Amino acid sequence: MESKNIRNFCIIAHIDHGKSTLADRFLEITKTVEKRKMREQFLDQMDLERERGITIKMQPVRMNYELQDTNYILNLIDTPGHIDFSYEVSRALKAVEGAILLIDATQGVQAQTITNVEMAKSLGLKIIPVINKIDLPNAQIKETKEEIMKLLGAENFVLSDRENKLSDSPLEILQISAKTGEGVEKLLSEVIKKIPPPKFDFKDRPRALVFDFEYSHHQGIIAYIRMIDGSIKAGDELFLYETKEKFLAAEVGIFKPERSRVSSLNPGEIGYIVTNIKKPSIALVGDTIVLSKEPLPPLEGYFQPKPMVWASIYPESQDDFDSFKKALEKLHLSDSALSFEEENNAILGRGFRCGFLGLLHLEIVMERLKREFNLNLITAPPTVSYKILFSSGPWAGEEREIYSPILFPDESFIKKMYEQWVESQIIIPKEKMGQVITLLYEHEAITTKTENFGDNSILIQAEMPLRELMRNFFDELKGATSGYGSLNYKLIGYREVKPGKIIRMDILIAEEIVPALSRIISRERVEYEARRIVDKLKEIIPRHLFAIKIQAKAMGRIIASNTIPALRKDVTGYLYGGDRTRKMKLWQKQKRGKKKLKEIGRVNIPSNVFIEMMK
Ligand code: GDP
Ligand code: MG
Repeated sequence: MESKNIRNFCIIAHIDHGKSTLADRFLEITKTVEKRKMREQFLDQMDLERERGITIKMQPVRMNYELQDTNYILNLIDTPGHIDFSYEVSRALKAVEGAILLIDATQGVQAQTITNVEMAKSLGLKIIPVINKIDLPNAQIKETKEEIMKLLGAENFVLSDRENKLSDSPLEILQISAKTGEGVEKLLSEVIKKIPPPKFDFKDRPRALVFDFEYSHHQGIIAYIRMIDGSIKAGDELFLYETKEKFLAAEVGIFKPERSRVSSLNPGEIGYIVTNIKKPSIALVGDTIVLSKEPLPPLEGYFQPKPMVWASIYPESQDDFDSFKKALEKLHLSDSALSFEEENNAILGRGFRCGFLGLLHLEIVMERLKREFNLNLITAPPTVSYKILFSSGPWAGEEREIYSPILFPDESFIKKMYEQWVESQIIIPKEKMGQVITLLYEHEAITTKTENFGDNSILIQAEMPLRELMRNFFDELKGATSGYGSLNYKLIGYREVKPGKIIRMDILIAEEIVPALSRIISRERVEYEARRIVDKLKEIIPRHLFAIKIQAKAMGRIIASNTIPALRKDVTGYLYGGDRTRKMKLWQKQKRGKKKLKEIGRVNIPSNVFIEMMK
């Protein structure tokens, strides 16, 4: 099909505003998915997505649609809404010409949407604003319209009426219900009318942007691509620009949404190329695919996102190190925001220092490693990174970035210390202002701007240490605003922090430090955290035949302790009374056994303890 009849677009919205549900309606209207196969949030294909009801991966799908006797190809990329997966959104936006901006009428514009809109605008995408969930009795359509105008910086939008009769105004805000389907057909025709078709410069030679990957056991790396110039068909000799890897296109195809073979991919189309390359480590999102002979110059790629939190992860058994490494490389193909670097530690052995965009990202990665790769792993408590200028010790005079609690030095080694700060945007209902100001204060935030956002809401801009943001700030914001507050943030660089304000706390079990449980915390929270941790460990470490002492240690002293009582195994039970000497013998034996176990400190800590401690 000619590229003038192609439309490529995304749906951008805050989490839960209805992206995946709207995609369902599109799939139905365009008959892309058979009725009997249809299920809610169809494009959320991973089990994990379905269980949690959230989108984690972007998912492209091609739809065919006829409007006024013309056939169109509509390529939609559904994207996640949670900020931890915003790298998926940014990559998807670069592969399309337009975006539906979907706003839940019961929630209004929320913080994450601000960034998404900024991203879409900076890429020059056509934005179609839409109000969703108008079927709900508490829909606040007029207020939401005001907020959208504020967001888009436009004064003269008009609201379509419920029948969407107004039409044809270039500044119209449609009202739909993704659930009932009301207004959705109209929206599809708006997509065709308002989003420009893809443009291209070259017809004879191909050039494709790689926006995602998948790894298949049989077919190796599968590149998800947006054709920019020319065509690609099976058998073409191709070249991955950045990674300098030559390959033969084994198969090309489109997403329906399952992969489906086609004879060629043409300018403006979105599809996939099977490369048969079996080295997962080489793949890089944002790479350009060209012909290996006389290639066109590469396209501008993607920026690599900066991790927010770090965690050291080790295989429970060192024998699994190689399979762990392979698993990370494969996982990285479908989660390019994940970063990892080998880490060798005298105590924990060989593992990886992994970087994540947030704690939900970390949790999802751990879950996928377990499910998809069947690995038993130990995760140290996640931490943000600190820059430390050492005054003494082996690194005296050097400035080092510390990513791991076990490398965090004692105060006496520190000359200067820096931590990362974020700039956050918070949208809250007006009447919750008081609670939120208190919360910001508790998290060491500096408010830099407060302004009205529409009639009901306030937009607060505040700077705070990343450490404090990661300390449950978002959940507490939700709590303080009855669920209405929303948050968005970006890193703004390092700032000095007084040495001694942030310290390391070690956890001792049976008098021995368990390195994978050490953590970095604020000094003022040390008592509280110490108590919380030893109590929690007491709950989750299974009882043994002997008593286990649990202690939290910081600043050279024990801050809190607790004891898990011994499991009283009734070894004499089966003797039914009687022979007293035999009983005594057994008791003696058990006592000796106890001592031995204690002596070698053989407390068995199951790996789920480490996962539980992270939460
Ligand atoms: P996403 O996170 O943006 O992909 O949102 P989902 O599509 O997963 O939808 C979040 C929730 O909102 C789901 O429970 C949907 O059923 C619900 N939902 C989506 N659109 C509508 C709508 O128009 N009306 C109503 N009543 N519920 C909706
Ligand atoms: Mg979704």
